[in-house]
Amino acid sequence: MLKKILIILFFVCILPKVSFCEEEKWQQQNSAHFIIYYKEAPEDFINEVIESAEDYYQKITRDLGFTRYEYWMWEDRAKIYIYKDSEDYHSASGKPSWASGHAEYEKKIIYTYPLAWGFFDTLLPHELGHIIFREFVGFKNNNVPLWLDEGVACYQERTRRWGSEKEVRKSIEEKKFIPLLELTEIKSLSDFDDAKVELFYNESVSAVSFLINNYGKYNFVRFCKELKDNNSLDKAIDSAYARFDNLKELNDVWYKYLTTNE
Ligand SMILES: [Zn+2]
Repeated sequence: MLKKILIILFFVCILPKVSFCEEEKWQQQNSAHFIIYYKEAPEDFINEVIESAEDYYQKITRDLGFTRYEYWMWEDRAKIYIYKDSEDYHSASGKPSWASGHAEYEKKIIYTYPLAWGFFDTLLPHELGHIIFREFVGFKNNNVPLWLDEGVACYQERTRRWGSEKEVRKSIEEKKFIPLLELTEIKSLSDFDDAKVELFYNESVSAVSFLINNYGKYNFVRFCKELKDNNSLDKAIDSAYARFDNLKELNDVWYKYLTTNE
């Protein structure tokens, strides 16, 4: 009996302290739209994270035309957890060794560690792109195809945005191009080889760039708003764009632009 009581006391008294200590390890810094939790990161690194995250937030909402819909304030701020180092991050998250971070979109949380490869140029803008876009159109919106979600996220990575069109033109020459109707059917990339995954991302960002650069942010917001209001992809395209009435026509105009530059 005494043993039992001691065991219970152990769990009651010791365990909460352990988790409390875990909590205590995180230090916190707040900015207008973000709360940064970190363990042992140097001060200037945290400042750089805050500065980049705030810059991307402004840039992404501006580039997509979502500036009128700002609501990441106070307790609604996004959170960035910065683990002590690669080992600390990988053992806590269980992510593969090549991962430099990941996000939980609905909770608006990004996890990473100092010196994570590509964090500032790729991971941070890409994941913020997903969070901002999904928050706008709805996290579980079946009308939003994967290519649009990934296209918007990749559009935030500068190198991907500028480099993709050339690759898509090349895929047309090599007869590997995936038409938009077929691209829209793709719900997961897990069965694809690396080359097809790359092509999927390049076509996705190229299609999003085509819409925003040629037909403006206003129409893109309208397109997203139609999807948010639970309209089908064809209906959203028809309502937002005068030039094409459905996905098939969007594909034809985009394809013509890629092959003739018109
Ligand atoms: Zn993504």
